[in-house]
Amino acid sequence: MRNRKKWRKIPVQITPIKDEIFSRYKGLIETDILSDKIVAIIGLGSGGSYIALELGICGVGKIICIDHDRLEVGNVSRHVAGLSHVGRYKAHIMADLILDRNPNAKVYPLVMEVNFDNKPTVRKSIKKADVVFICTDNRESRLILNRLCVEENKPFIMAAAFSRAYGGQIHVFNGTGISPCYQCFLSYLPEEANDVEISSPEQAQEIAYSDREVPVEPGLLNDIKPISQMVVKIGGQILLKDKETTLRSLDKDLIAPWYIWLNRREKGTPYEKLEPLKYYVDGMHILRWYGIDLKRNEACPVCGDFEKYALNNHEPISDNKKDSQSNEPTSRK
Ligand SMILES: [Zn+2]
Repeated sequence: MRNRKKWRKIPVQITPIKDEIFSRYKGLIETDILSDKIVAIIGLGSGGSYIALELGICGVGKIICIDHDRLEVGNVSRHVAGLSHVGRYKAHIMADLILDRNPNAKVYPLVMEVNFDNKPTVRKSIKKADVVFICTDNRESRLILNRLCVEENKPFIMAAAFSRAYGGQIHVFNGTGISPCYQCFLSYLPEEANDVEISSPEQAQEIAYSDREVPVEPGLLNDIKPISQMVVKIGGQILLKDKETTLRSLDKDLIAPWYIWLNRREKGTPYEKLEPLKYYVDGMHILRWYGIDLKRNEACPVCGDFEKYALNNHEPISDNKKDSQSNEPTSRK
């Protein structure tokens, strides 16, 4: 009698997880079409964590997750991870969350800050990746990653929210000689490059180089997600470029090197006076993507032929001048 109470028959269904997980993608993309692709996501905050998880869910085979921070309570309202992960490294959290959605993926968490000293290690990850997603929140790391990607001729997508996430921008680098790099963008549009979301005290500290105090003013996750979603869409197109898919038509749409998104007509910005969205289909309005053409700067010290350009313009350049033109930060020793 005792045994009968202890042991009970329950129905068990064995599901072939690999086929079943991606069954809803059939017709759009082949279920394992991205399984041979490798991505690197650098910076796993509110944007990067979402991008990493989405790429995992899409079926990307190998995902390198790089971040040096641990998840804090204050991050939870804007991160894909919840309170149960507080105190853990974001890189390790993302490995668990991705594998929970796609157990076939291989995730490589790297607890590491991107700075001048560990460039060789970061370069190794960039070399392996098909596309690099740059989601760090400081200019030093962006400049280092930009240079490494240009040197390795590696496509990258760089996403950033504007202050208080009233909007955001995305840079797409498709390869040397084709698209402008981040350094080109900085030389053309320094104001846009400076309009960044301040989401942490460390970041505020870094930006407050004058006496003026910089307030921490993070945006809402709701305002950051449209930017992250677009990044995944553009990244997916680059990853699928040599594959047969019905998503091919997007190749003609997503050609811009620079995209802008506006969440609202923020006071004190150039977008304050835009016509309200209402029913308009023409003109510039909020809550729509705008692709903007930006040519590569031939004289860019990172992606251009700086030396040739300078010689053609009869400007002799010394090594010192070359160095001063390069915005790459030097080692902090
Ligand atoms: Zn450039």
